Amino acid sequence: MLKLVRISVGAAISLMNLALVCCPAEGYQNFNVAVYCRAQEVRRMAEPNWLEPRWNEISRQVKVDKVYIETHRDTVLVDEETINKAREFFESKGVKVAGGITYTVSESNRFETFCYTNPQHRQKVREIAEYTARLFDEVILDDFFFTNCKCELCIKAKGDKSWTQFRLELMEEAARELVIEPAKAVNPKVKMVIKYPNWYEHFQGLGYNLEAEPKLFDGIYTGTETRDPVRSQQHLQQYQSYLIFRYLENVKPGGNDGGWIDTGGSWYLDRYAEQLWLTLFAKAPEVTLFDFRQMLWPIRQSTRAAWQGTQTSFDFDEMLKPFQLKDGTTVKPSTIARAAGYTFEKVDRFLGKLANPVGVKSCKPYHSTGEDFLHNYLGMCGIAMDIVPEFPADANTIFLTESAKFDKQIVDRIKGQLMKGKTVVITSGLLKALQGKGIENIVELEYTDKKAVITDFVVGWGGACQSESQIVIPQIKYLTNDSWEEVSCLASGIGYPIFHSADYANSKLYVLTIPDNFADLYNYPTEVLTRIKEVLMQNIYVRVDGPSQVALFVYDNDTFIVESFLRESIDVKVVTDSRITKLRDVLSGEALTGEVLSDRWRRWGRGTGAEKVAFDIQIKPHSYRVFQGQ
Ligand SMILES: [Zn+2]
Repeated sequence: MLKLVRISVGAAISLMNLALVCCPAEGYQNFNVAVYCRAQEVRRMAEPNWLEPRWNEISRQVKVDKVYIETHRDTVLVDEETINKAREFFESKGVKVAGGITYTVSESNRFETFCYTNPQHRQKVREIAEYTARLFDEVILDDFFFTNCKCELCIKAKGDKSWTQFRLELMEEAARELVIEPAKAVNPKVKMVIKYPNWYEHFQGLGYNLEAEPKLFDGIYTGTETRDPVRSQQHLQQYQSYLIFRYLENVKPGGNDGGWIDTGGSWYLDRYAEQLWLTLFAKAPEVTLFDFRQMLWPIRQSTRAAWQGTQTSFDFDEMLKPFQLKDGTTVKPSTIARAAGYTFEKVDRFLGKLANPVGVKSCKPYHSTGEDFLHNYLGMCGIAMDIVPEFPADANTIFLTESAKFDKQIVDRIKGQLMKGKTVVITSGLLKALQGKGIENIVELEYTDKKAVITDFVVGWGGACQSESQIVIPQIKYLTNDSWEEVSCLASGIGYPIFHSADYANSKLYVLTIPDNFADLYNYPTEVLTRIKEVLMQNIYVRVDGPSQVALFVYDNDTFIVESFLRESIDVKVVTDSRITKLRDVLSGEALTGEVLSDRWRRWGRGTGAEKVAFDIQIKPHSYRVFQGQ
C-alpha cells in the first residue's frame, strides 16, 4: 500500500489493470533472476509509453526478481529524475532495484577504459561512484573496472614495474579510494559489488586484483558467458560457465552473488540456454540477464539447431509454445526472454535436489597464468574440476597446471602431498616450468623441445586405440625403470608418455602430457581419457567413461549431472563406487540397475582396485541427465 501512495492515482489505476495481464513477480524456487539495464536504455525509461510495454513483454516470459539500473556507460550519465522514475516503475511491480556502473569511455573503441593516473578521469570515476551510491543501496560494477590505458601519464607512473604489477596496485588503490570509500561516505548502507568478466586467466595484466578486491568489495559477481567456443576470439569452452563461478566462489566463499550471461555467440539457441543452466549447476544464487535490450530481441528460426525435434534438453519447439499465466492469460513467446524463462522453469524443477558441487581440486595462485583456461578443456573431457586460489593440502588428489609455477613453494608442497600418501597430477606444462627448479628431486624427467605427431595409443599393458586425427605432443624423456608409462603414444613405432607415473615416498606423481593445441585433448580416445579419470577422479564416487565433450557435474549427496555437448546422441558408461547399485533418473523417474564391473576391468595396473558398478546410459545432443545414486 505504501508504494501506491507514492504514485499518482492514474498510475495506480493503470497498475491495477496491469495486474490482470502481467505476470506477478513470483520467482523461481532455487535462484533469483535479474535483468541488467544499460544507461542507453535507462535514459529512455522516462519517455511516455516506452518502458511499460517493453517490461510487460519481458516479464510475462521470464520471472524477474530484480533489475540493475545503470547510471553510467561510455560517458552517458543518466539524470537523476529519469533514474527515479525508472526505479519507481520497477518497485511498483514488486521488483527489487540496484544500481549499475560501467566504467568505460568508449566500448566500441577496443573497450576504452578510464585512465586511473589522469586526475580528471579519477575525479570522474569518483563522481560516478558517489552519484550512484546516493541513489541505490546496492551498486554493481560491470565488466570494465580494469585499465588498458598506456597514455604518457601511465607510462611515466609505471616506471620500472611490469604493466601487471603497476595495474594491480593502481586498480586496488582506485577500488578503495575512488569507488568504495567515496560511495560509503555518501551512503554508509551501500553494498558494493564487483563483477568479474570471463577472462580470468588474464585479469592481473589489466589490473583486476583477485587477491585484494574481493576483500574490499562487499560482494563479487561472475561473468559466466562463454558464447561460442569456436566462432569467437576468446574460444572459451562451454564448461567454463560452470567452473568460473566455482572458482570465484572459492575466492570469496559465500560472497559470489551470481552469474551473468548475454546472448552473444548463441548461433544455435541451445548455446544460450546451456550457459544459463551451467551457471545454475554451479549453484549461483542469482542469474543476471544482459540486458534489457537483448531480452527484447526476437527469437530467430535460424537458431533452431539441427538436433531439434528429438526432445533434447532445450526443446526449441516446446519453448515457442503458447503458455498460460496463473491468471489464465495466454502468452505467445516472442523474444529471447522466453528462451531464458523456459530454461529456468526446466532446471528449477531439480536444482533443489543438488547439494554442494565437488571436483578435483586444482590450485591456481593469485595473479598466475600458464596453460590458459586449460582446466575447462579437462572439464569438457568429463573430469569434474574445482579451481582454488590456495594450495588445497587437505585434498587426497590434486591437479596442477602450469599456472601453479607462480607458487614459489610448489615443489615442496608437491613433495609434502606425496609424503602423506596423496596423489598429485601435474601437466607437461608445469613439468617444463619446474625443470631445474626442484621437480628433478622427485623424478628425473626431461621435457624436450622435440615434438611427435601421433594417432596411436597404448593404455597400460596392451590396450591399443587410435585418435580420429593427428595430435602434436611434446616429447618427454624418462629413465627406464625409474618411472612408468601409464598411457603411451606411438609415432612411427616409437613411443612417448601421454600419462606417466613416478613413485615417490608413499605415493605417485603423475604427469599428463598436454597436446600443443589444447583442443586436441578432445581427440584423446575414450580408453585414454578413462585411464586419466581413474587416477584424477579416484576420490570422487562417480565418473563417466566416454568420449570428450561429455561433462560431469558432481554433488556431495550422490546426485550428479551428465551433460553432452556433442551434436549426436552418445552412449556412455556411468561408473560409480560399489555402494551405489541403482540410479534414478531425476527427470524421468526411470530406475537403472548397475552391473558390477568384472575383474577384466580391474586387472593389475588399472584403477585403484576398488570394486565399481557401471550403468549404460544414452545422452541426447546438447542435453543433460540428472541422476540420484541409491
Ligand atoms: Zn593513462
